[in-house]
Amino acid sequence: MPETTNCNLCGSDNYRTKARYTWFIDLNEPYEICECAECGLIYLNPRPNTQELIELYANEPYFSRGNANRGASRTEFYTNRMRRLENAVPQKGRLLGIGCLEGGYALEIAQDLGWEVSGVESSEILASYARDNLSIDVQTVDAWDLSGLPDDSFDAIYTHSFEHFSDPLAMLGQCSRVLKPSGTIMIEVPNQFYSLKDKVRLTAMEILGNHRYKVFRKPPPLHFHLYFYSRMTLSQMLESQGFSIDQIKTYVPWHPVYHSNKNGKWLQESLYALGGLFGAGPSLELIASFGGKKLE
Ligand SMILES: [Zn+2]
Repeated sequence: MPETTNCNLCGSDNYRTKARYTWFIDLNEPYEICECAECGLIYLNPRPNTQELIELYANEPYFSRGNANRGASRTEFYTNRMRRLENAVPQKGRLLGIGCLEGGYALEIAQDLGWEVSGVESSEILASYARDNLSIDVQTVDAWDLSGLPDDSFDAIYTHSFEHFSDPLAMLGQCSRVLKPSGTIMIEVPNQFYSLKDKVRLTAMEILGNHRYKVFRKPPPLHFHLYFYSRMTLSQMLESQGFSIDQIKTYVPWHPVYHSNKNGKWLQESLYALGGLFGAGPSLELIASFGGKKLE
């Protein structure tokens, strides 16, 4: 059964629905996108419950595909990202990956760069791919539960699954527990609804009307993102849990997921590049270090 939820950032149950956003990503009833009337966090509400999400991830090719095509553009994409983490944590050390999209490709690259890596993943297919093919220690966990990991044990955490966590505040509490004092977290989320490309498309939709806009439109793949973070809401969430923001930026990632649409490719690429120049690229990346009091 789909579930309803309060705002994860401020706890309020006061929200407005965002019909245009809901339509924009082709969501069907009962799912809807809403915006917290108090703090502005945008989230899916109602949303699939935990069991439904587990089943979705087990059956959806995007999440169950262990072996991504390890092509040059993906390698460059993950290497660049890991280099940015390395700038924040030059001494490297132990790195925990939360989520092993594409079979732990990011962790494989981090390992090659000298990190001692391990991971957690909710999809058994992705976790076993990373274990069997990359010899990376990846635990399969239910609903992103880190309780099996010891306190104060990682120099850094890396995740590009943050938009999929049902309770991101609680996840940050778990992260601060397993991080060493002053440990670093790197989070990458899609800059969904806030990127220049999405803003242009939303405006076109408003001007043309949903029906006419549909002619030009290719619906994005449905990945059941539970949260749609802006720079502000993502920073506030981290700060509320004792992290201080070292860096928050948008990027134009050279990942095939962002560059695969053949129809109107030139327009898409131009909007990505232009958005990137003005802090409205398609990917939002944050690096923060923990300086708060650890949860007991
Ligand atoms: Zn709120």
